[in-house]
Amino acid sequence: MQTKILITNDDGIYARGIKSLIVGLAGVGDLTVVAPDREQSASSHSLTLLNPLRIKERSPGYYAVDGTPTDCVFLGVNHIMRQQPPDLVISGINRGGNLGDDITYSGTVAAAFEATLLGVPAIAISLEYKSDFYFDTAARVVREIAEKVLVSGLPADTLLNVNVPDLPWDELSGFRVTRQGKRTYSDVVCENRDPRGRPYYWIGGEVLKCDDLEGTDAALVAAGYVSITPIHLDLTNYKAIEPLQKWEWSI
Ligand code: MN
Repeated sequence: MQTKILITNDDGIYARGIKSLIVGLAGVGDLTVVAPDREQSASSHSLTLLNPLRIKERSPGYYAVDGTPTDCVFLGVNHIMRQQPPDLVISGINRGGNLGDDITYSGTVAAAFEATLLGVPAIAISLEYKSDFYFDTAARVVREIAEKVLVSGLPADTLLNVNVPDLPWDELSGFRVTRQGKRTYSDVVCENRDPRGRPYYWIGGEVLKCDDLEGTDAALVAAGYVSITPIHLDLTNYKAIEPLQKWEWSI
């Protein structure tokens, strides 16, 4: 039976990253796109529970949902593709990296988390935010990784968070398996006034620094490598269990 791949993207149904994925994955499997009808970057793992959702099939196999990337994966796996569930979910190619702490905000990574929760192997793929946006490089990268995942599968509860440097393919340094790094953002809150004199606030600052820790996603992407970080759903900090158990509890 033909391999089924579900594509989503938190930059919205018209995102360039979706078009690049479709070109890059040609021949790898049957592609179904289910993506938000507008940009949903930094929506994290939010699920729409208080409003109904609408699905519009814009062209065959190409669905826009008025919800989050997580909604898209949920509807994609459990409704749109329920007769033949996907063998793989690919979320991306995001316009901008998902490095270090970005993972916790990312709609791109959350969509891959959702797929993992639903038992489908998943890849989140992001292209470093610079100026050129070599989406075709990232598309070639994801094709190679997708083929490997389809053959070998992934460990339980694990997805791949892939980040690609913004470089032409022949300038990449190689592929590296990495660990999650650390990024620091500006904490500035910009206050301004709207035309009616009321204050409004603009948050979400620039990256101030990427800690250049050895073996991390941010460090390797900065050195021109494709970073592949296996991440899992269990957020427990096992090293903290023992110290917390030593606290004196009242009962
Ligand atoms: Mn995005």
